Formats: sequence, C-alpha cells, structure tokens
Amino acid sequence: MANTPKIVFFDLDGTLLRSQEGHVAFNEAIFKTFGVPGDIRTIRPDGKTDPIILQEIFDTGGHEVEWKPEDGATFSAHLKECYTRAISEGPTRVRALPGVPELVRELSSLPDLCLGVVTGNMEVTGRLKLQAAGVGEHIGPGAFGSDSANRNDLPRIAMERWSTHLNLPVEPRHCVIVGDTPRDLEAARSNGMKCLLVATGRYNPLEDLRKLDADCLLPDFSDTRVTVDALMRLFG
Ligand SMILES: [Mg+2]
Repeated sequence: MANTPKIVFFDLDGTLLRSQEGHVAFNEAIFKTFGVPGDIRTIRPDGKTDPIILQEIFDTGGHEVEWKPEDGATFSAHLKECYTRAISEGPTRVRALPGVPELVRELSSLPDLCLGVVTGNMEVTGRLKLQAAGVGEHIGPGAFGSDSANRNDLPRIAMERWSTHLNLPVEPRHCVIVGDTPRDLEAARSNGMKCLLVATGRYNPLEDLRKLDADCLLPDFSDTRVTVDALMRLFG
C-alpha cells in the first residue's frame, strides 16, 4: 500500500444488508444455548451488540438467565449451525440492500481504500450474512459483538486489527464508520472517527437521522457515485 490507508467500517443490518426471517435461527440458537424460549422479536435490536440483545430478551421475557462472556463460544457455535441451515434450507433470506453490491465493488477497486466491518453481530453470524448477501469477498477484518458487548469498543478493536493486518499505523482520522442508527454515530464519535449514516434501517427513517449530527446522511446507497464522493470527502 503506497499511501496512508483509508478504512471504511460498515455496519451490517440495515446498512449493507437485511435478513428476512432471521429471528428463526437466532431464537433457535438461544434455546440450544440457554434452554429458554427467548424471542428477538420482543425487543428492538437495531444498533445493539448480540450480548446486549440477549440480555434484553432474557429480561423482557422474565427468563432468569444472565449473559456471561464465557457463553460466547457456545452461542456462536449454535448460531453458526442454525444460520447455516436456515439460510441454505430456509426460511432465512439475507439480501444486500439496493446499490450495496455496486458500491462495495467500486470502493474495493480504489487504491489505498480498505473495507472492514463494525457490527454488533457475533463474528460467525456477521461473516455468514456477508457471504449470503454476496459481498463477503470484499470485506476484510473488523470487530463484532463477540469482541465486546459495548459497541463503542468496537471501532478501536477494528482499527487495531487493520493496523496489524496491514502492518501499518492506522489512526481514527483514517477511518469512517457507516451505519444506520444513532448507536453507529455514537461509536464513531467516542473513537474520534467520522460517520456516514444511511436511512435504510428498519427503525430510523431519514427525518429522525436528520436530527443527529452525522458528518454525512444519505437516504440509501442507490447512487454509487454520490456515495463514493461523500465518503471521499469525509476522508478529507
Ligand atoms: Mg444496523
């Protein structure tokens, strides 16, 4: 890499892709791991990490279960098994949001630009979803809900992984977070990174996101040129 790398960290759900009937595999993995009938549809998961989502599900359902980091490996193994089956045999479908395949292809062709991920999904689910959405090959290292329950920890972890991966120093000003919720913006801000928000999430329409102080706000990624230009401006 000839120049300082620029890294775009994409959120997954509501930003790059959307799952239909994704709750089936998630709920199955909860039952297999914790033995309780937790249901992700009872809470609003957007922008949260999987450990936080699990605890909210347990609390909302009155299940006397507490998430512990040591449950992560077992839960991830069950997620892998359940999602793989639900995606290949149904009912779960994962689709890239409009314009995302074109955008990811275009960005990955640019010199000195790297694509990573910062998501609340456990790594195993994040990678499965990216692959199912057809964009996995273009997305490199990142940070996941399996790295920390606190989303604000994730941008720093992702940045350090890229620094190791490239064997180069990477600074927050070389990173942009792209997401669909106020939590993506908060995670960017608490790590000194810029943030582009896109209004393709389920719960945060454009008019709500407009009230926030994101560095850039787009209705969607349907226009590749507009999105690429907006990102390049954020890197200065
Ligand atoms: Mg999201």
